[in-house]
Amino acid sequence: MTEKIYLDNPYLKELTAKIINKEYSNSKFYVTLNRTIVYPHLSGGQPMDKAVINDSKVIDVYEENGSIVHVLEDNISSNTVNIAIDWDVRFDHMQQHSGQHLLSAVIYRLYNANTIGMHIGRDYVYIDVAIPQLSEADVEKIERFANEIIYCNFPIKAYEVENKDINSIPLRKPPTVDKNIRIIEFENVDITPCAGTHVRNIGEVGIIKIRKWEKYKGNTRIEFVCGYRALKDYSLKSYNISNISVLLSSKDIDTLSAVTKLYDDYKLLEKELQDTKSELLNYQVKGFLNESFKIKNVRIVQKTLNNFDPKMAKYAMTQVLSHSRTICILCIIENQYKCHILMGRSNDLNVNMKNIFDSVIGIINGKGGGSPELVQGGGANTAKIPALIEKSLGLLREKIWNDQKKEKWKITSLIYS
Ligand SMILES: [Zn+2]
Repeated sequence: MTEKIYLDNPYLKELTAKIINKEYSNSKFYVTLNRTIVYPHLSGGQPMDKAVINDSKVIDVYEENGSIVHVLEDNISSNTVNIAIDWDVRFDHMQQHSGQHLLSAVIYRLYNANTIGMHIGRDYVYIDVAIPQLSEADVEKIERFANEIIYCNFPIKAYEVENKDINSIPLRKPPTVDKNIRIIEFENVDITPCAGTHVRNIGEVGIIKIRKWEKYKGNTRIEFVCGYRALKDYSLKSYNISNISVLLSSKDIDTLSAVTKLYDDYKLLEKELQDTKSELLNYQVKGFLNESFKIKNVRIVQKTLNNFDPKMAKYAMTQVLSHSRTICILCIIENQYKCHILMGRSNDLNVNMKNIFDSVIGIINGKGGGSPELVQGGGANTAKIPALIEKSLGLLREKIWNDQKKEKWKITSLIYS
């Protein structure tokens, strides 16, 4: 059994301990100590601590049959060791975790809603509360109430009770263990069972700021930050707003309306640009059709374009193929090593463009897919595009001539039969 010093004194940053067991497996050392200040990783809740034992980094810590196992990369030769935890990380966990208790308690008091999940991530913390939705005003109320309690600076106490006495304590939620139940009491505010580490006085949480909230599986997920994380979050936002206000020559308080106006202007310009592009494209499509040629009575549009927007090319192809008995092959060169190929035909032809595409795409080391009507892909050997076009046109010529020969024969046999 390991004495869990972090439960009674979460503020202890260094400790001397004795090794009671050491095992070596998979290039790692598994060290069990008689006592420890390193908080282990447990399922859910508070994350594990960062720590060193005699300068050897602790890469994992877990609980096994009441003992705490420290996983190390390097061996420790002495039997007595010195443990040092990363205090910034621990205090951050204590602030976030204590803030979580408080936020859950406030939501329980205001809306009678239980917290059904929580996660302390590297940057943000969230809780899932059994409430279908929260309004802006609700969130403001929760935040205000939680911070008012922080400024009251009530003490936070931790103690153990036996299962038989548990019913005499007004717990917000039931315990998950049935003996040595550890209770965390936020004086005047909240009593819950918990095995984590917490600050001594609620004022040490500093501040709770809800960053965002959203509906999640019928409940509400609330993302928030406490203490130094909230300060970091505020600093980032302050930096961003200051720079945005300089860019927009506006006061920081006016940045939202300035950005909204900028965005509205941008949407308008985007629409105008889109309309102009469409108009230009219609002219280009007319040009494509004017420069087309015929194989028998089938119109062939073939264009090789440099740096043409592939989306616009697809639109151009649709426009071209709205004309009857038309085949269109568009090659768009993006750079020396990248090109796009589009091949299509109008509805009234029975040429299988996918067969043509599959027969020629290897020339440019390309690939792609589609239907007999429309197929597209890309390739890397841009220099070989002329060879691809030549072969495609050859195959088309062969197909169209053969089809028309068959057609003529069919008509002749009908006449003479
Ligand atoms: Zn807790």
